[in-house]
Amino acid sequence: MSSPTAVPDRSEQFAGKRVLITGAGKGIGRATARLMAARGARVIALSRSPDDLRSLEQEIGCEAYAVDLADAAAARATALAAQPIDLLVNNAGIARLQPFLDTDVEAFDETMAVNVRAAMIVGQACAHSMIERGTGGAIVNVSSISAHVGFALHGAYCASKAGLDALTRVMAVELGPHGIRVNSVNPTVTLTPMAEKAWSDPEKSSQMLARIPMNRFVQPEEVAQTIAYLLGDEARMISGVSLAVDGGFLAR
Ligand code: NAP
Repeated sequence: MSSPTAVPDRSEQFAGKRVLITGAGKGIGRATARLMAARGARVIALSRSPDDLRSLEQEIGCEAYAVDLADAAAARATALAAQPIDLLVNNAGIARLQPFLDTDVEAFDETMAVNVRAAMIVGQACAHSMIERGTGGAIVNVSSISAHVGFALHGAYCASKAGLDALTRVMAVELGPHGIRVNSVNPTVTLTPMAEKAWSDPEKSSQMLARIPMNRFVQPEEVAQTIAYLLGDEARMISGVSLAVDGGFLAR
């Protein structure tokens, strides 16, 4: 019998589960794909750049689909082709930085299409399949502290993440009776290619760092571990939350 303080062996935690991860090519999505594969899940990776998917396939032996999630019809067709899915991580996201006064409709619409609409479309395909199979399931939407805070140049992005948190709550309310849990994770700056683009100015990054009580940015693996927690049975009564992974940023 294992001691109550023993660290659980998680290598088979998700054995037999199929997890679909969008934006699995880089950053947080890739770290999540690696972690879920290491914990026994079969990873189904959706992303845009075929090269990233090829290297991920070689690394973890996943199924891979190259698709532009901004294209609603392609997103739906790919999500349907990927079924059956037990666990879903809506992670793909873009940040097109523009001052509010100059934010253009094209950038705003693309941001909403990738960051919110694709999560709805892929979530619908997965939830329909989970309900038909009667299996239940778990969904994590990768949001941001930007859902709660207004960052300069991030108008479309902040609006999209607030929208994603709202969608998370509605999904949790409607899908809960089918045994499907839906939550968001809301990281602060996480050291990925996207963050390099948004926070590469040292003056900007030092100001941001000063607002994080833990005094550092987040590693993609730390977000992946939080996602895995929310997908797993230990979180079996957690649904509809927006869980910050922010070193205390939002507590200030
Ligand atoms: P990243 O390094 O830029 O990676 C994003 C991944 O999503 C890439 O593989 C990208 O593929 C894919 N993707 C983007 N648009 C796509 C589209 N239209 N169709 C299909 N795939 C698409 O970003 P990240 O930092 O890991 O961010 C992942 C998620 O975390 C996003 O939702 C982001 O908003 C959120 N987040 C990030 C931070 C941060 O500081 N990094 C903080 C809070 C929240 P391509 O590269 O091939 O386009």
